[in-house]
Amino acid sequence: PESMPPSSNVTNQAQPYGSYGYPGMQSGYRQGPASHTDASPSDDLYGQSNYQQYSQVSLQQKCVTTQRLFYKIAHLMNFGCKLSCLFVRGVETIRPSLQPFPSLSELSAALGGLSGVPELEVEALRPINLLQERNLLPPRPLEAPEPNLSPDLKKVNCSPQTFRCTLTSVPQTQALLNKARLPLGLLLHPFRDLQLPVITSNTIVRCRSCRTYINPFVTFLDQRRWKCNLCYRVNDVPDEFMYNPVTRSYGEPHKRPEVQNSTVEFIASSDYMLRPPQPAAYLFVLDVSHNAVEAGYLKYFCESLLGNLDKLPGDSRTRVGFLTFDSTIHFYNLQEGLSQPQMLVVSDIDDVFIPSHDSLMVNLKESNELVKDLLKSLPALFSQSRETHSALGPALQAAFKLMSPTGGRITVFQTQLPTLGAGKLQSREDPNQRSSSKGAHHLGPATDFYKKLALDCSGQQIGVDLFLLSSQYADLASLACISRYSAGSVFYYPSFHYIHNPAQLEKFQRDLERYLTRKIGFEAVMRIRCTKGLSIHTFHGNFFVRSTDLLSLANVNPDSAFAVQMSVEDSLADSSLACFQAALLYTSSKGKRRIRVHTLCLPVVSQLSDVYAGADVQAITCLLANMAIDRSISSSLSDARDALVNAVVDLGSAYKSNVSNLQQSGLVLPAAMRLFPLYILALLKQKALRTGTSTRLDERVFAMCEFKTQPLQQLMRMVHPDLYRLDNISDQGALHLNDTVVPQPHLLHLSAERLSRDGAFLMDCGNVSSEKSLFHLRCCFSHIPELETPLSERVRAFLDWLHDNRAFSSTIHVVKDDASAKATLFQHLVEDRSEWASSYHEFLQHIQQQVSK
Ligand SMILES: [Zn+2]
Repeated sequence: PESMPPSSNVTNQAQPYGSYGYPGMQSGYRQGPASHTDASPSDDLYGQSNYQQYSQVSLQQKCVTTQRLFYKIAHLMNFGCKLSCLFVRGVETIRPSLQPFPSLSELSAALGGLSGVPELEVEALRPINLLQERNLLPPRPLEAPEPNLSPDLKKVNCSPQTFRCTLTSVPQTQALLNKARLPLGLLLHPFRDLQLPVITSNTIVRCRSCRTYINPFVTFLDQRRWKCNLCYRVNDVPDEFMYNPVTRSYGEPHKRPEVQNSTVEFIASSDYMLRPPQPAAYLFVLDVSHNAVEAGYLKYFCESLLGNLDKLPGDSRTRVGFLTFDSTIHFYNLQEGLSQPQMLVVSDIDDVFIPSHDSLMVNLKESNELVKDLLKSLPALFSQSRETHSALGPALQAAFKLMSPTGGRITVFQTQLPTLGAGKLQSREDPNQRSSSKGAHHLGPATDFYKKLALDCSGQQIGVDLFLLSSQYADLASLACISRYSAGSVFYYPSFHYIHNPAQLEKFQRDLERYLTRKIGFEAVMRIRCTKGLSIHTFHGNFFVRSTDLLSLANVNPDSAFAVQMSVEDSLADSSLACFQAALLYTSSKGKRRIRVHTLCLPVVSQLSDVYAGADVQAITCLLANMAIDRSISSSLSDARDALVNAVVDLGSAYKSNVSNLQQSGLVLPAAMRLFPLYILALLKQKALRTGTSTRLDERVFAMCEFKTQPLQQLMRMVHPDLYRLDNISDQGALHLNDTVVPQPHLLHLSAERLSRDGAFLMDCGNVSSEKSLFHLRCCFSHIPELETPLSERVRAFLDWLHDNRAFSSTIHVVKDDASAKATLFQHLVEDRSEWASSYHEFLQHIQQQVSK
């Protein structure tokens, strides 16, 4: 009954996300270089065959299935006699498992043109009957698929942590893309923390036609000419570029760092500035109403900022300011030379004016003592406040005026629904509707006030970040617009209380520490270019779209990600490679204009089987999640959910009718996509998209915000957490890093079946949601004990290793068998049936029924 997520029948099915072609795209989103005459077919240096790598493939690995053997045979036949000895060895190894199998002609029909596909991809194509194979998870968290490129190109390609494409083999035409029933798009994490080559050069070499930055995938026709890999224009190599600063030698343009690295950063010249680079500027806007005092966040904020004041990114020009508000707005004069900070109260919230322009945003170095005085005295100043009203909108208007001359970052702390002045809101949540199976309402904003103000901010290079710490409904759907359109971040702490909710307080403190000290870029823009023939049609994330391919990012931070949907506008038949380049131009906190450039290169394919072999199931899931969030706002939640289910049905049908002629019954998908139904089911059970269970509106909206801004790895851990058993953790297969042995326990399926009363389990839900890492323990631990036993040491080595490389440190929640928190843990067991949602097996059966219709 209600238990099936895809409750609607397919006749009234939601418009599927695919064709994915979005034929009615606004022409404004079409992108592409100006026309040119020298776009001859690629005589690309890198277009050499990929066959070479095959000779390195080891055939010692035992083939586990006959099908795979046959792929190998079919494959080897393409290589002729050179490899025939290997072929014989291969058969000898495998003969014991020979069983009836399809004829070669069936097989080659099934495989399309697989010539040149290496073994890994053949494994990716192995048909999997999901209703029969139950253990689908790899032992370790899934890695990004490696594009089928020559070793030379692989070596220099962009890291999948920065740049991932849903299809690592790009379909040659839109018709082929439509046939695959999978979306084409990019997932980008452009400003993530990393070490990268920084290049100072008078000449930044770019294509004269399409302005692409020179990169490892261009072709040098000779020493003095290079051919653009996006538009194919032939460009001259400037004199300066002939000199290689790394080797200090002349005449080696192809050895320059720009051509050796797919991620580089340039120090930009004044050509890249519209005005002198702005100083780092931070304005903190603090709710000090009675509600805020009750929640008790202010003291912890002030302590954290005091402790991190020296670590705020910036230089001697850094400016700071503070503004507090309840029913009125309070400014703080921190002018150097004053004996103590002065508070200036503005009670006319209908026409906010700035009482003084010079003394409110001050140089942090010069006014350091006054800033510290203020932070020490603020909590006590409002501890007796009885003022219950909140004039958030007017406070934001004041903040905008204060920051307009410089641009910078506004950080807002809000604890309730704004009740006064511009932007005031009313409660729209009906608790009785929360668990409705019909879906959720009020997912979009109630007013355009916050969006408009955000666009004004964006225009003045101001980003607004929101910390919402509230126990009641605060209409995050409206408030979050202030960050969405100004490229800001949203943090949410439901039921925040400094005494009653220690877990939220701890998370708030950890998040603040990271937030205050993380890298920041100001007055940024990001442009995404791609090979001629491909076009961008939708962006996802927090930004303002300034023109067809240009995103305006008033601030950019290392924890935000973006997604891009694309289509194939013109056939890519003339090229063997497709490239994507993201260029992020920003001002560093030290006032330097910089350009960070990432370039990704992928093969272009003409066969459907190749498209499937290169499918990146996690990237596809994340892109679909972004599309589903948009759909739930623009149409309805049930429509968004149906479209997700249809994405699985469509793939099953497309695979069945076009590729898999193996006459298998059941639900069959290529191995590369075997986790797709599981991930989609997990998506449907997320707070952002679930129905049935009671989900507070603000929590749902926050989960939606996270879907739109989290980097892929983080998002996948939220959707499908990693579950491990720890009490029998061993050193078998452990990593040896420096002097540390890091055990690598195997992933478990997310089902109560895998848990047992006598075990200890770790569920790694990433680091953003409130329940991060969870333990299920028989014993009465409230923390992870530090014992001198091998088991304890192994567990801690593993946990430390998991924590490394994460931006926000995780909290570990210990959940005992009898605790009420068990419910939180069990909601992540996405394979199990719950009162409101079907089990994985039921879901598969439903999909199979739809596919066989
Ligand atoms: Zn070009």
